[in-house]
Amino acid sequence: MAKNLTTRSEDYSKWYNELVVQADLAENSGVRGCMVIKPYGYAIWEKMQAELDRMFKETGHENAYFPLFIPKSYFSKEASHVDGFAKECAVVTHYRLKNAEDGSGIIVDPDAKLEEELIVRPTSETIIWDTYRKWVQSYRDLPLLINQWANVVRWEMRTRLFLRTAEFLWQEGHTAHATEKEAIAEAEQMMHVYADFVENYMAVPVIKGVKTESERFAGALETYCIEALMQDGKALQAGTSHFLGQNFAKAFDVKFATKEGKQEYVWATSWGVSTRLMGALVMTHSDDNGLVIPPKLAPNQVVIVPIYRNDEQFDAVSEVAKELQKELRAQGVRVKFDDRDTQKPGWKFNEYEMKGVPVRIAIGPKDLENGTFEVARRDTLSKEIISKDKIVATVVGLMDEIQTNLYTKAVSYRTNHTTEVDTYEQFKEVLEAKGGFISAHWDGTTETEEQIKNETKATIRCIPLDGKKEAGSCIITGKPSKGRVLFAKAY
Ligand code: AMP
Repeated sequence: MAKNLTTRSEDYSKWYNELVVQADLAENSGVRGCMVIKPYGYAIWEKMQAELDRMFKETGHENAYFPLFIPKSYFSKEASHVDGFAKECAVVTHYRLKNAEDGSGIIVDPDAKLEEELIVRPTSETIIWDTYRKWVQSYRDLPLLINQWANVVRWEMRTRLFLRTAEFLWQEGHTAHATEKEAIAEAEQMMHVYADFVENYMAVPVIKGVKTESERFAGALETYCIEALMQDGKALQAGTSHFLGQNFAKAFDVKFATKEGKQEYVWATSWGVSTRLMGALVMTHSDDNGLVIPPKLAPNQVVIVPIYRNDEQFDAVSEVAKELQKELRAQGVRVKFDDRDTQKPGWKFNEYEMKGVPVRIAIGPKDLENGTFEVARRDTLSKEIISKDKIVATVVGLMDEIQTNLYTKAVSYRTNHTTEVDTYEQFKEVLEAKGGFISAHWDGTTETEEQIKNETKATIRCIPLDGKKEAGSCIITGKPSKGRVLFAKAY
């Protein structure tokens, strides 16, 4: 009955794959690289969406929806953009099937070839900027602050549930501005919004920074990012926000009349987070017993499990459980009372531990006699007996306490796995021995970055925005460096 997970120290990657399936978050589908997100996983994603959506709206954005298909000619209008995505595009060439004349089954009808092939969107800059041309004429039409919730397809060769899939769910913001300064401010603002969400809701600490030229989004002048550290010492890019300059405005001829009546190209940003955040959530907090979810994103924050031997006991326990559920709900706590008689309490305990429900309350006949509840925390796996008069306050308090504890634990893991090094020897030693973020001087060239990547598999995750600006010399070439950058092996 108890499901057994491979432990993190045995095989981190296997642990992750098993956990995602056993916690009922998602599973592989019959389609290569595409996953099925199961109701429990989807409920967590919906919580993430709801908070992000609120934050986007609070910063003045509106939602809209654009087509899934992008004509090939649109796609190739911005040269570096098409270069960046060409290798991973799914292309629609026909619009009809038919029965083969030799009876061998269904085939693509060769007579139904599309005049122009359609790209299944890997991101929507091109179709959206083609639309913005019609929406923007004057400075009065700006800024345009639009977000889309959608699915996109990138033909990834090596896929992992949530972390990297061929089709994924995401949001993509696309904004248009009158000035460069405003567009840069927007791109920076959205990076801060992402960091705020990931730290305060997901309880995952992130480093804010900018990408190096070689890691930049195809078509961007600057890519801002948030980088998180997973429990195996590997980094994960959790969100990106791009300053696109006037590249897309020029490619799609989006101009506006300024107050002075001059015609100018519009300035752009785009920004996105995806279902990869689910992977970040799992990999940051979970343990060898299963998923651990921070209370703010838990579909059920509390589960009440009744313990009984007969109908009479069940009725008595249920009454108390339902009353407690009502009181907790009145305090805004999401509570499930699991009164199924098809499963034993032990089975339920295992189930909720695997699914990471933050707090479990058990009530049995003894508790009824004593006026108590057994309260178990998922994050620390500790149990406590709490009296009736304190139960509501205790549980409400635990929501904040668990949220903070998870964040603090993740920060301390990251602190212990961030190392400053001054030589390439040290760099390789640390990378091998414990991984994590390595802070080192770099001469700013793509060649050096490539060399380090080829020799160690570590990449520059970002140039941190609040990094020390101390000058130094590059660990490879000894040339001058303006400040330390963060390296890590990454997902
Ligand atoms: P990008 O448009 O490349 O800047 O990516 C936007 C967001 O989607 C980033 O937060 C990425 O981490 C995430 N992302 C990119 N590729 C994938 C993928 N194959 N599966 C899941 N998330 C992805």
